[in-house]
Amino acid sequence: MVSRVIPVDLFDLVIFGGTGDLARRKILPGLFRRYCAEQMPQEARIIGAARSDLDAQGYRQMIREAIAEFGGDSAHSDEQLDGFLAQLEYVTIDARGDQGWKELQAMMAGTTRVEAYYFSVAPALFGDIAERLQKWGMADVDARIVVEKPFGRDLATAKALNATLATYFNEDQIYRIDHYLGKETVQNLMAVRFGNMLFEPLWNSQYVDHIQITVAETVGVGGRGEYYDKSGAMRDMVQNHLMQLLCLIAMEPPARFSPDAVRDEKLKVIRALDPVASHHIVRGQYQAEPCNEAANPGYRTAVDNPRSRTESFVALRAEISNWRWAGTPFYLRTGKCLAARASEITVVFKDTPHSIFGEDAGRHRNVLSIRLQPDEGITLGVTIKEPGPGGMRLIDVPLDMSFAEALKEDEVEQVDAYERLIMDVIRGNQTLFMRGDEVEAAWAWTDPIIEGWQARNDVPKPYDFGSDGPTDATELLRREGRAWRPVT
Ligand code: NAP
Repeated sequence: MVSRVIPVDLFDLVIFGGTGDLARRKILPGLFRRYCAEQMPQEARIIGAARSDLDAQGYRQMIREAIAEFGGDSAHSDEQLDGFLAQLEYVTIDARGDQGWKELQAMMAGTTRVEAYYFSVAPALFGDIAERLQKWGMADVDARIVVEKPFGRDLATAKALNATLATYFNEDQIYRIDHYLGKETVQNLMAVRFGNMLFEPLWNSQYVDHIQITVAETVGVGGRGEYYDKSGAMRDMVQNHLMQLLCLIAMEPPARFSPDAVRDEKLKVIRALDPVASHHIVRGQYQAEPCNEAANPGYRTAVDNPRSRTESFVALRAEISNWRWAGTPFYLRTGKCLAARASEITVVFKDTPHSIFGEDAGRHRNVLSIRLQPDEGITLGVTIKEPGPGGMRLIDVPLDMSFAEALKEDEVEQVDAYERLIMDVIRGNQTLFMRGDEVEAAWAWTDPIIEGWQARNDVPKPYDFGSDGPTDATELLRREGRAWRPVT
């Protein structure tokens, strides 16, 4: 099977923060891959915008180096790279001042193309940029803006940010990125749920014992220590990425695969979430790697805050109070410096009501694993008879739906989440972007949890570098007769 690439309309994309880490690591290399795949029109323009004093040539050189470093090993010719770089422009601009805005206005004047402005800058600058886009006549009704996470740090700041953006743009012009939603498997999750008769009838508390969502990282806070220490795993991961995965796994079938139909259903899930009891949540902080403390320091050293109470790990038990899910636990966990890098959603089905095989009863359960990274794919564990003589012994084997196998990986185009989402912005498709009310509802659920920690002066539990997190997280499931899926 070979994927069909449908070219997008001609566009002008301005990347505020075009010299930054995200632009160089993800956005520009992603756009280059779309160029090589002939999805990006040859006359499209990408305009980097930041304070650095560069001209177009200097910017093209910067992005040439970024593509060499972060572009992966995708084959491309020198002509392709030169052709892509020729589509780049640059404007030196100050988001907080007047410098550069007149030049940008002149570049965008009279364009009849799709106009998109990517805010790849600190959120503190979102309002300044939106205001200046309007002041300089670029916030017309056809313009689209793309905003990065974090979208607020609590409900009040998210509301304020939504209100600021709403002053200048309509909701259907605002694309709030959560790159998890751009992953192939996440979309496949919807295809599996709503494109098959097999799963949906079983997708409820009557047949599902529990659901686990794990996003495990092996890396620490790296160079983001200062930011991370003010944020923590709850704000940085749970409120957005894990919440979005929870929504997709738990939502009702939307009437159609259209932006508001999907986002309405996701919103209902968030609003149906119960508050989380303090004994249903575990926070952790990673310790230094023994004998390698210099390379892998503990969390408090890494963030240069010896008394930090910010969590680098969270595990919690959530419940959704609606007809479909009442009584079914959703266990969420995420953390840094864990044993393996893996993002996985696991649906564990209930035991059969009666086992005709005697002793084996209850030891075998169907498990559907949706793996986001690495090795994207979906696996269904089914119980079969162990082959050979020796009576009726049961074993669980995976019915593997790995995309690589089924679709002959080398013939399937691998599209990174950022590439897909930017192309969706150009197409004007908001289905995989968060709506303002969704973000606010997610904060409304998250805020009391964080406020509870602050009120109790909660101190995160230490956990070993390269482990599965604090032992209390294991206990969270063990006391309910369950276990986390191993992180591999
Ligand atoms: P970064 O490396 O610090 O880059 C910030 C960019 O903003 C630079 O290009 C900087 O360029 C520009 N900038 C700063 N002040 C400016 C001003 N007053 N006017 C115009 N431009 C200004 O940050 P980043 O890592 O790329 O992150 C950008 C956004 O994406 C943030 O909201 C971040 O939370 C989000 N994000 C990043 C990642 C990631 O992997 N990096 C992942 C998810 C979300 P000059 O210094 O040249 O002005």
